[in-house]
Amino acid sequence: MQKTIRDLNLKNKTVLIRADFNVPFKGDVISDDNRIVSALPTIKYALEKGAKVVLFSHLGKVKHKGTPEEVEADKKKNNMVIVYKRLGEILGKDKVKFSDVPSGDTVNELVKTLKPGEVLLLQNTRYEKGEEKNDPALAAKWASFADVFVMDAFGSAHRAHASTYGVPEILKNEGKDVAIGFLVENEVKALSRVVHVDKKDRPYVAVIGGFKVSDKIKVIETLLEKCDKVLIGGAMAYTFQVALGKEVGISPFEPDQVDFAKKCLDLAGNKILLPIDGVATDAFKDWTKKVTVDGPNIPAGFEGMDIGPKTQALFAKELSKAKMVFWNGPMGVFEQSDFEAGTRAVCEAISKLHGAFTVIGGGDSAAAVAQFGYKDAFSHISTGGGASLEMIENDGHLPGIDVIG
Ligand code: ADP
Ligand code: MG
Repeated sequence: MQKTIRDLNLKNKTVLIRADFNVPFKGDVISDDNRIVSALPTIKYALEKGAKVVLFSHLGKVKHKGTPEEVEADKKKNNMVIVYKRLGEILGKDKVKFSDVPSGDTVNELVKTLKPGEVLLLQNTRYEKGEEKNDPALAAKWASFADVFVMDAFGSAHRAHASTYGVPEILKNEGKDVAIGFLVENEVKALSRVVHVDKKDRPYVAVIGGFKVSDKIKVIETLLEKCDKVLIGGAMAYTFQVALGKEVGISPFEPDQVDFAKKCLDLAGNKILLPIDGVATDAFKDWTKKVTVDGPNIPAGFEGMDIGPKTQALFAKELSKAKMVFWNGPMGVFEQSDFEAGTRAVCEAISKLHGAFTVIGGGDSAAAVAQFGYKDAFSHISTGGGASLEMIENDGHLPGIDVIG
């Protein structure tokens, strides 16, 4: 396990914390501040220990390949000032300062005036062209004012960017302290358990759903190796049904993934459970007919939108035996109330488990669980969609965490 912020002396030190403030927002209104709230334990700890805290993060996308006007428009849209305002409300306006540029002389001057117990938030790291390229000159600028680096951006830990990789690499080489924060520590603990499976955690059941098989090939392969049962729902189930020679009507499936699905089915045999019924409509949007289809075949002109009641019961029965569950991907188009029952049923089944270790990875799955009010029913809800899946695929490794040591 990496060093954590608890292991370090922070008093009077300039502590540079890579946080994940990539919040959803419209205009200047943050629609969900969960990522800011999740970063607070580490920030507050550092402040209490007398550190001068400098925070940096990316927000949205800035496409540097565009015209200068397009780059400016991206920057304007993804201005970190919205996070600065929210942090000020939470920590106290007098305690939080903001640099409207991410690096350079302005930042260096502001860092110099920072007192222990104060916070300086830097502008969006992606304003810098070199961020995503892990440009060493950019990393050196950020590293130059830091005594200590703390990695607490789990959602960005699968990216070896200047702020997540270049900076800790430089500081480590200089003999300075680098560590993970509380948020990353919790993620590593929970996800390591679903990666390095202990006997006491079996049967280990995975639930996989969501839209595309192609997004999740490696994670499906890995879970098939590690788990005792893999329940597959969501749109991706149709590619598996096609591999079995079933009819899927106009359901979304991926022709170029059928061979992969066949290979999984051959190798995994009865480890994989697929839907045995479903809810289907005559169109995705503005549908006029909705039917419950008894059996895995979906009639011509219809598309599958959710798993059916028999599948809900089948999946619930498997889940009731589980000692450990990893869930990624909704069972249907849960955003529409007509097709939320399958995803809700999985929440319900998991909430009935006592003493089992249950983990969710995946942005939409986590959103569904929150929407249905089942957040407390899970042992761990990962803050990183892509990062949690990559950690499983890579046997517990992510560049932004491995670099810490
Ligand atoms: P996660 O973010 O949890 O990893 P994904 O991004 O893979 O999940 O997939 C989520 C999306 O999959 C949701 O928007 C949901 O509406 C969609 N989805 C699930 N089942 C179906 C289906 N049968 N048809 C179309 N879309 C589906
Ligand atoms: Mg998603």
